[in-house]
Amino acid sequence: MNILFMGPPGAGKGTQAESIVNEFQIPHISTGDAFRLAMKQGTEMGKKAKEYVDQGLLVPDEITNGIVKERLEQPDCEKGFLLDGFPRTVAQADALDQMLTEMGRKLDHVINLKVDRGLLLARLTGRRICKECGATYHVLFNPPKQEGVCDKCAGALYQRSDDTEEKVGTRLDEYMNKTAPLLDYYAAKSLLREVNGEQDIQDVTRDISSLLRGQAE
Ligand SMILES: [Zn+2]
Repeated sequence: MNILFMGPPGAGKGTQAESIVNEFQIPHISTGDAFRLAMKQGTEMGKKAKEYVDQGLLVPDEITNGIVKERLEQPDCEKGFLLDGFPRTVAQADALDQMLTEMGRKLDHVINLKVDRGLLLARLTGRRICKECGATYHVLFNPPKQEGVCDKCAGALYQRSDDTEEKVGTRLDEYMNKTAPLLDYYAAKSLLREVNGEQDIQDVTRDISSLLRGQAE
C-alpha cells in the first residue's frame, strides 16, 4: 500500500497518519524526518543536503527528490509507505512518479483531508498556551475552567504570534495556492481520494481506513 497524504495545516493530517501507519504497518515518511535521517547517516544525498543546510540555503529539488528516493529504497518500505509533506509541487510529483516507476512501483492512493477554511481558522487560532508550564488549551475544543487561566498551575494563557488570524490566514492561502495544482494532477491520474476531515478523529480514521481497504462507496 503506497499512500500519499495531503491536507492543509489544522486538518489533523499528523494524527490520522499515525493511526493509518499503525493499522497498515507501513512506515510514515515525512520529508523532515527523511532529511534528518539522511544527514545523520551521512548518505550521498544527506551529505549534499547538509552543505546547503549548513549555509542556510534552500535545498534544491534534485537533492530533496534524492533524499526521498533513498528513503523509499530502505527495506522497511517494501510493504508500502505513507508519504507526508512531499511532493509540494507538480515538478516534485513528476519526479516521484518517475522514481517509483524506476523501482517498479506506483502510488495507490492520494488521500486529501478536506476541511472548510472557516473551521481551519477556528482550529488554528483558538490555541492558547500557559506561560508558566506550557500546557496547551483550545478556546473551543479544550477550554480551561476559567478563561485565560491555566487549570494546572493558574498561570496566564497566551496566544502564539503565529496563531493570530492574519498569520494563519496567510499560511492557509499559501497552502491552497501551492497545492491546488497538485490536487488537479492527482485527480487527473484518478488517484485522488477526498476525505471529510471535519468529522470526529475516529470517524475520519474509519473513512480513510475503509477507503484504503476498498470498501468505500
Ligand atoms: Zn500552567
